[in-house]
Formats: sequence, structure tokens, C-alpha cells
Amino acid sequence: MSLLEVKNVTKHYEVRSSLLQKKQVVPVLEDVTLSLQAGECLGLVGQSGSGKSTLSRIILGLEEPTSGTVRFDDVYLYQADNQKKKQIRRDLQAVFQNSFNSLNPRQTVMEIIEEPLLNFENYSRDERRHKVEELLDCVGLVNEVVHKFPSQLSGGQQQRVCIARAIAINPKLIVLDEAISSLDMILQKQILTLLQALQHQLKLSYIFISHDLNATRFISDRILVMHQGQLVDEVSKDASIKHPAARELFNAILPTHPRDRER
Ligand code: ADP
Ligand code: MG
Repeated sequence: MSLLEVKNVTKHYEVRSSLLQKKQVVPVLEDVTLSLQAGECLGLVGQSGSGKSTLSRIILGLEEPTSGTVRFDDVYLYQADNQKKKQIRRDLQAVFQNSFNSLNPRQTVMEIIEEPLLNFENYSRDERRHKVEELLDCVGLVNEVVHKFPSQLSGGQQQRVCIARAIAINPKLIVLDEAISSLDMILQKQILTLLQALQHQLKLSYIFISHDLNATRFISDRILVMHQGQLVDEVSKDASIKHPAARELFNAILPTHPRDRER
């Protein structure tokens, strides 16, 4: 059985363009079906506004779909009782693009990373301290950062803290929604390599969401292409992309050397 199964998921928002007008239904996702095997990294690429983040929130249990089902392990997310929901909150973690926004500015790194341990484990104070040190080491941060606040860290360090928090309670699946998109090229490569190592070490599954096809290729086993709320193409890691929307995305990436850009 697959780890995750999204079946015929549709999402509509009702929006009003002005106070006097009637609400209009805006379709954001149309009949999305996908599945993910344990241990797999599934890439999801698409232009901005194509519905990737909406789909990721639905998969994370944060936003109910208009219709369709999401099954994680043997639990249907939007039909589960509270006990099962708690288990899923443990097994399903996320890392988002803007790490600074997803970190509480008043908490130290220690407090941020130990929060899921307090919620889900019965560790003593010393055990938590030890576990946090181990997690920092896992994501390539030195121990000295434990007393720092997010504002005292660089963008790359903040993202590493988010990753440490996400892996703290041994999840099965991590949804990475544009998780490297706000970093520069060198940091992107470092974080991608870190994520790849952690995936193998901890036997994790990933959904890697990005508008950057190169980065997605680097880490994913298989890539789905999203266009205007629909999945329009599926390609294996090295196969060429057929759908015009996805090719456009690929062609839009600037060559690294300015000389090559003029061609
Ligand atoms: P992506 O992550 O691919 O950039 P999103 O899922 O964020 O795409 O957005 C897809 C579309 O859904 C966009 O047109 C966006 O404006 C719309 N949308 C997202 N959330 C809401 C909401 N809460 N209410 C109305 N429209 C929304
Ligand atoms: Mg998005």
C-alpha cells in the first residue's frame, strides 16, 4: 500500500471582487490524483499560482478539499478521529519557503526544536537537551546556536533549524514547499545535499515542491507537473519534459554565465 494517496481532489475558493458583487467560485485544484510510496521523493513543479501550495496544505491536513480524499498510511485525513489526527501530525511534517516567518522570533533555537519533543515524547530535561544537540549536529549546526534567536541566524541557518524541528519526532513524510527557494545558489545546493542525506539516513519520504525544475530534478525520484490546478505531466528523474507549460518553466531558468544568456 502506498504511504500517501490523493484521490480526485478538487478545491474551490469563493471570492468576492467587491462588496456589492456576489461571491464567485474560483477553481484552484481540479481532480488531482497522485500517490507516493514510502521512501520516495516526489517532485511537484509548476508556475507560481498553479496550485502547489494549496495542494500541499490539503496533504498536510491543514485545509479541507472541496471534494476528494487524502489517505495517509491507513487513515483518511479529513475523516479521522482526534487520536488518529494526532498520530498524523507526528508523521507528517513540513518545511516552508520563508523559514523566518515559520519560526517564533521570541523562542530560542533550543525552545523551537524541543517543542515537538515536548508535545510528542516523554523525555526528561536532560534527554531533550541531548536530543536537540544531536539534531543540530544532524543538520550541520554547531551547539552554540541553541541560545540564539532566529533573527541572529542567517537564512541558511534558519532553514536548518526548521529542518531539525521537522525531523525531531521521526516523521514519515516531509512536505518541502519551496523550502530552498529564498536561498542563494550555493546555500540551495548545501540544503539539497543535506536533505538528500537525511532522507537516506532516516528513511524519509519527501514531497519536494518548487518552481525550479533543476533543483527538483536533483532530489526527486519522479516529478509531477502542475498547470492551472491540474497535474498535466509525470516524468521520471532524467526523462525529458513534454508538456509545454513545464518546458516553459525549464526554459525560463537563466543560464549561469551571462555570456550564455544572450543566446
Ligand atoms: P502556488 O503555490 O503554485 O504558487 P497557490 O496554491 O498558492 O499556488 O495558489 C493557487 C491559486 O489559488 C492562486 O490563484 C491563489 O490566488 C489562489 N488561492 C490560494 N489560496 C486562496 C484563498 N485562501 N482564497 C482565495 N484564493 C486562493
Ligand atoms: Mg506556493
